[in-house]
Amino acid sequence: MDMSKKIHLTEAEIPTHWYNIMADMPNKPLPPLHPGTKEPIGPEMLMPLFPMELIKQEVSSDKYVEIPDEVRDIYKIWRPTPMFRAYQLEKALDTPAKIYYKYEGVSPAGSHKPNTAVPQAYYNKMEGVKRITTETGAGQWGSALSFACQMFGIECEVFMVKVSYEGKPYRKIMMNTWGAQVFSSPTNLTEAGRKILSQDPNSPGSLGIAISEAVERALMDDSTKYALGSVLNHVLMHQTIIGEESIKQLEKAGDFPDVVVAPFGGGSNFAGISFPFLRYKLEGKRDIRCVAVEPASCPKLTRGVFRYDLGDTVGMTPLIPMYTLGHNFVPAPIHAGGLRYHGAGAIVSQLLKDNIIEAAAIKQLECFEAGLTFAKTEGIIPAPEATHAIAQVIREAQQAKEEGKSKTILFNLCGHGHFDMASYEQFMSGKLVEHEVTQEEIIASLAELDTPEIG
Ligand SMILES: *Cc1c(COP(=O)(O)O)cnc(C)c1O
Repeated sequence: MDMSKKIHLTEAEIPTHWYNIMADMPNKPLPPLHPGTKEPIGPEMLMPLFPMELIKQEVSSDKYVEIPDEVRDIYKIWRPTPMFRAYQLEKALDTPAKIYYKYEGVSPAGSHKPNTAVPQAYYNKMEGVKRITTETGAGQWGSALSFACQMFGIECEVFMVKVSYEGKPYRKIMMNTWGAQVFSSPTNLTEAGRKILSQDPNSPGSLGIAISEAVERALMDDSTKYALGSVLNHVLMHQTIIGEESIKQLEKAGDFPDVVVAPFGGGSNFAGISFPFLRYKLEGKRDIRCVAVEPASCPKLTRGVFRYDLGDTVGMTPLIPMYTLGHNFVPAPIHAGGLRYHGAGAIVSQLLKDNIIEAAAIKQLECFEAGLTFAKTEGIIPAPEATHAIAQVIREAQQAKEEGKSKTILFNLCGHGHFDMASYEQFMSGKLVEHEVTQEEIIASLAELDTPEIG
């Protein structure tokens, strides 16, 4: 049994397959619908936007999909990622619980996002695509895709929400370093951007506007396609490399988690670490709890409704069956930028509906407090998104202490916080305010949805 601080895997132990949970789900997600006709859409509708191989993965029910050698070769730059036993945190909490964490912050972009950016760039390259467009809010996805495109010699265009473009200049320079072109959205390069600018020349931009711009650019040119960093089935599947490695690492430690915890934005890092473990539950072999942790200011899983809704604000995407706060919901500007999305992916939503996974919502001061505790004990400064998982882990560990029972907890430390020091500074100087969305705000936002609640 491996009692080390750090549980190693060798390069040869990098998993060869991604896991597709669709194969094992008792109820499959409902199909996406056309936003106009409200009829199910076929794969052909996605062809102007995505390469064929990714469309196939999006609808596949094969249990495993082989990871191409070219992708595994790039993964080797940072994979296998380390797993740590949080001995110092356990000691500080004086808990009988065993806490493990998988650290995805060692990737070039500093988060889990390159796990999908690399295969997405690869399949585009294989199908002759010359350029990929995308949007980015806080900049984590834009930097992951810039890196991946550089690895395969594809051009990358990133529409970065204006407030982040101005507020997070180092994320932008990171993207430029990997050869990407970064635009402050709204731009006058697109119809969508020009329309917004004509109404408000000083628009701060939004993720919804940036998505519309990136999609429009991809539709304008046959050799340009579009990429998304979360929510979609193929994105979640690429992230399962995290959980597959974690299983091997915990085997070395002679352990198996009672509970797996991850922060939740659109669902990709949560799916990545939890789905391979959920396989044991769906196959009837082990029981396990998987907890998705969202911010109290954007609580779609715990306080939203299960409905068909748009993926963006403008209405360029299909209707997806999801837990949602409504596509016009504008989350408060909390610091976990990656968690400020109105909806959840279709697979994760169905699993929550079927009580196969759990969700929790936590306010930002408790999260930052947990992040600070973690940095002071384990040393690594977590991304504000990741602090949501840590806050839940601390709750679980304290509960174990009260009950006098041991339990094994695994969480996803999905990124480092090196570009988020301004938010830590605000927290430490007491300037960060607590925020929780009101019931009135949720009701008002949902009133704008014209789709019925699902089953
Ligand atoms: C993007 C991001 C998230 C949220 O997205 P998911 O798809 O839910 O994983 C969380 N943490 C970090 C560090 C991110 O970059």
